[in-house]
Amino acid sequence: TSFGFKTVPEEIKETLVKNVFDSVASKYDLMNDATSFGVHRLWKDSFVSSLRPGRKGPMKCIDVAGGTGDIALRILDYARENYYDRETTVEVVDINAQMLKEGYRRFKQTMYHNTPQISFHEANAQSLGPEKFKDNTYDLYTIAFGIRNCTSIPDVLKEAYRVLKPGGTFACLEFSRVDNPLLNAFVSMLRAPSSQLTWVFRLYDQYSFTVIPLLGTVLAGDRESYQYLVESIRKFPPQPEFAQMIRDAGFSTGKDVDGGAWTNQWGGIACIHTGVKV
Ligand code: SAM
Repeated sequence: TSFGFKTVPEEIKETLVKNVFDSVASKYDLMNDATSFGVHRLWKDSFVSSLRPGRKGPMKCIDVAGGTGDIALRILDYARENYYDRETTVEVVDINAQMLKEGYRRFKQTMYHNTPQISFHEANAQSLGPEKFKDNTYDLYTIAFGIRNCTSIPDVLKEAYRVLKPGGTFACLEFSRVDNPLLNAFVSMLRAPSSQLTWVFRLYDQYSFTVIPLLGTVLAGDRESYQYLVESIRKFPPQPEFAQMIRDAGFSTGKDVDGGAWTNQWGGIACIHTGVKV
């Protein structure tokens, strides 16, 4: 007999890694639900149905910062359920291999597994790489709750423009600025220093800065990531500014109004921006 460390057999290692990974992924989904009270599901549904994938025939799609494939699955389901389309394809791209692995595992339980309809790729949104992701390739580029994590939004938009076919659509779902007049008036009223309700607003404000990172600590053991998440939401450009960035990348957009260049969800808590490659 010998003492010392034994090498963990390959099959056990795989199980260990898988278990660790499973816990990360399930917390990710739990956190999504806890921080948005499950509302992210509704926003994702309306994001995908507003794009009506499959309406004009099968599409070649790329879902960037696609994580575990929430958007990809909705695109494929929408096309199949509404247009009997089983030829639309989605390439899920993410910088994090673990998220992609969880996506792959998740799709194993769907009818899309082992079909050309779905694939997973590790790459950076800011530099997808011209070899793997060629110019003028996709009909639809989606990015949901991912662009605010990228250090250079213009670089992401430039790559999106490059890989889309002329006439192809760029579509982004992201947390944004509340600009519903009623909601705004309510928020301003609460903000007014003389308001008896100031403390209520403070509570709302503190929710994002305290409760979300706290939930991050308790549920995912990861306060910093969730603190960062809240800060990145606050730093993200407001709707007209982001629409201008999309145009600066070469896309054409609707007018700078809700329902034009962008469509607010819940008064701007989240927002869909679209642009067409001209
Ligand atoms: N789109 C998915 C969804 O809506 O559920 C995932 C959103 S998740 C909040 C953000 C994702 O962006 C993460 O999976 C992260 O790894 C990815 N990400 C962050 N920076 C990225 C980059 N530069 N390029 C590609 N993916 C990135």
